[in-house]
Amino acid sequence: MHFIEVILPLSLSKTFTYSVTEAEYSYIKKGFRVAVPFGKNKIYTALVIDIHQNAPTLYEAKEIHQILDEFPIVNEIQIKHWLWIASYYMCAIGDVYRGAMPSALLLESETIISQKTESFVDEAQLSDDEFLIFEALQHQSSLKIQDIVAILGKKNVLPVIQKLIQKNILFLEEEMSEVYKPKLIRYVRLHQKFNSDEGLGQLLDTLKNANKQKEIVLSYFQLTATEKHKPISVKMLLEASGATSTVIKTLVDKEIFEEYHIQTDRVNFDENQKEKNLILSKAQQTAFDQIISSFETKEVTLLHGVTSSGKTEIYIKLIESYLKEGKQILYLLPEIALTTQLVSRLTAYFGNKVAVFHSKYSNNERVEVWNQLLQNSEKAQIVIGARSALFLPFNNLGLIIVDEEHEQTFKQQDPAPRYHARDASIVLANSYKAKVVLGSATPSIETYYNAESEKYGLVEISERFGNVMMPEIELVDLKDKYFRKKMTGHFSDVLIENITEALSLGEQIILFQNRRGFSPIVECMTCGHVPQCQQCDVSLTYHKHKNQLRCHYCGYSMANPTNCHNCSSVDLTTKGFGTEQIQQELIQLFPNSKIGRMDQDTTRGKFGFERIIDSFKNREIDILVGTQMLAKGLDFDNVSLVGIMNADNMLYHPDFRAFERSFQMMTQVSGRAGRSEKRGKVIIQTYNPDHNTIQQVTNNDYVGMYKEQLYERQIYKYPPYFRLIKLTLKHRDFEKLKEGSMWLFQVMHQNLGVPVLGPEEPPIGRIRNEYIRTIMIKIPQQSSIGLAKKNVQKILNSFETVVQYRAIKVVVNVDFY
Ligand code: ADP
Ligand code: ZN
Ligand code: ZN
Repeated sequence: MHFIEVILPLSLSKTFTYSVTEAEYSYIKKGFRVAVPFGKNKIYTALVIDIHQNAPTLYEAKEIHQILDEFPIVNEIQIKHWLWIASYYMCAIGDVYRGAMPSALLLESETIISQKTESFVDEAQLSDDEFLIFEALQHQSSLKIQDIVAILGKKNVLPVIQKLIQKNILFLEEEMSEVYKPKLIRYVRLHQKFNSDEGLGQLLDTLKNANKQKEIVLSYFQLTATEKHKPISVKMLLEASGATSTVIKTLVDKEIFEEYHIQTDRVNFDENQKEKNLILSKAQQTAFDQIISSFETKEVTLLHGVTSSGKTEIYIKLIESYLKEGKQILYLLPEIALTTQLVSRLTAYFGNKVAVFHSKYSNNERVEVWNQLLQNSEKAQIVIGARSALFLPFNNLGLIIVDEEHEQTFKQQDPAPRYHARDASIVLANSYKAKVVLGSATPSIETYYNAESEKYGLVEISERFGNVMMPEIELVDLKDKYFRKKMTGHFSDVLIENITEALSLGEQIILFQNRRGFSPIVECMTCGHVPQCQQCDVSLTYHKHKNQLRCHYCGYSMANPTNCHNCSSVDLTTKGFGTEQIQQELIQLFPNSKIGRMDQDTTRGKFGFERIIDSFKNREIDILVGTQMLAKGLDFDNVSLVGIMNADNMLYHPDFRAFERSFQMMTQVSGRAGRSEKRGKVIIQTYNPDHNTIQQVTNNDYVGMYKEQLYERQIYKYPPYFRLIKLTLKHRDFEKLKEGSMWLFQVMHQNLGVPVLGPEEPPIGRIRNEYIRTIMIKIPQQSSIGLAKKNVQKILNSFETVVQYRAIKVVVNVDFY
């Protein structure tokens, strides 16, 4: 009797027992994948977590189809960590397994595969089975793996398919196959030797008899004058001079002009390669030393450094010292879209030891990183990734850096596992005996609390690198401005003046408009009707660009109506202002400037974000309008002005973290201003200039914000004093949901012995035709969360046995963020 215990990639909490032959038994190790039958004729890729001789009592063990690996591709620390995630975040181990692995490693009968059309296939190189699949795909664009089982007339097909994926012949249908090449714009500048007056005379002298060339050089001078300090692209020069690119090439060959690309040497355009010989400033060096000595007694250290204090440089030095010891380093970031800048900085320094891992990357790219780690390859000694990089097979992890640790995107919302990557990384580090640095200019209340209570080490930097001053923050009182008629649309006179000045100096501007709960809608002036989504309880959002109304929750859209659906009046108006409206107003106000917009609509697709960032960096955009995406650690060297259009809609969000988040967002956006010699300026437009949070932002008073919020958290029973478990119940039948959630609430309220709130109807009470109720459980810091969760689970189990409520879906979110 020989058995293996496996995890299936399904939302199931149990592990399953399969039987194997004696030969298989002695071959299989924990961490192998096996193809197994499950349910009706389905095949799944399961993960072996144990090998034993105990027959299951409740069912007869089925046989496996086949073994898929020759060595473990998941190690024991990973398995332990995944089990911890399942237990802590109250979800199925199958959900963790599914979320942890690249889907190309989890082929199953329902997986749909297609052929890569762009790759050339040498048929002679294919095995018989490979050829049969290849040929079948010449006649139909895609196949399910179960179809391939039929075509090959055997069950063991996963290895063949895996091979074809590796050979780049097949790919999983779910993938996007977009490839992004950073746009390289050609610029020219005068060769350095002509930088003096003397040099200039010499230059004009050499060009005496070359009229065409002289004309271009003169156009170049004219352009530098009119364009202020902006770089001159070849394209601009061609347009201004009417010359051909051959003449420009001649000038480059003659070493009168130099060609360069901003993409590669954007920093001040001449001091490239500075990262190579990075020297820490005094403040940075002190912080570095403090982190090292903090590690002697603490597993986790918080690096609290103001924006632009050069935290990245400290990370680089830390990475360097762990590399020297032959350790692996994991660098976690909130969103990979933001890493282009960071990846190029790290690769400039560490060469090809840097691997990037993110769920938006193609399967092959992700499998490649997975394999590099399995082989302990040099190429993946440093892994930069979003939260899912936490699941990779490290074997010698020494350091985890969690950059921008306050970011809420570290917490996965949907689907399960709803884990917090920062917290899970601390648990992971513990297994590897690795250290953790949490970095932020605006740490979360929880983290700062842990640092203050000496659970974590605390290292602070309060000055910016190079003694750049913190930006000057000016508050504009909107009430007063409207009253005195000093507003043009949503722009105060102060903001317009400052934008005008920055533009005249060739400097760039960022305008921040938080759109949360503040989207433009269409309203009938006659009856007040606002078009609603048919499936969700929300007003449809007006999109001027496509002249459409759209639902942000389910994607439903309709053409912008010409008359009211309620009373047929044609008197319709648009209300509210999003980024799009700000952009329109800017075009009116500054017709000669180039205006860009960055929000969810303009950054769709794998590289939407990079495209906009690149154009801004390349200075093709003068003013960039955006949502909170702009708040994240971007480093631009030419932005002198940041405007926050309306601070109030962040502050008055119904959420216990609203003030903390407003502080973080405003401070982070402000941090984008003035990163070079000149002091940057931030203008905050608000109806509440005296609001504590606004004052704290203005005075750069993180600790003031922290203390005030901590006090509130204690009084109103929120983290860090209480842990939250949020239950979300959903059902299509309103009455049934109401009843069921009341039942669940009452049982919890009577039995848990901790505060339970609800059942509450959330602000958006229906999404995709499902009604929603929430229940919040608050577990005091000093009581056992393990026990509380056990009790919650028991009650949930009995809820499931009540026949009339069985169809109600319950989503559990532990440490709700
Ligand atoms: P933070 O992440 O703390 O906001 P960054 O690491 O982005 O700050 O640093 C801000 C700017 O200062 C960057 O342009 C960076 O290249 C520069 N900088 C910081 N430290 C150094 C250093 N030691 N040597 C050279 N440049 C530095
Ligand atoms: Zn109407
Ligand atoms: Zn909807």
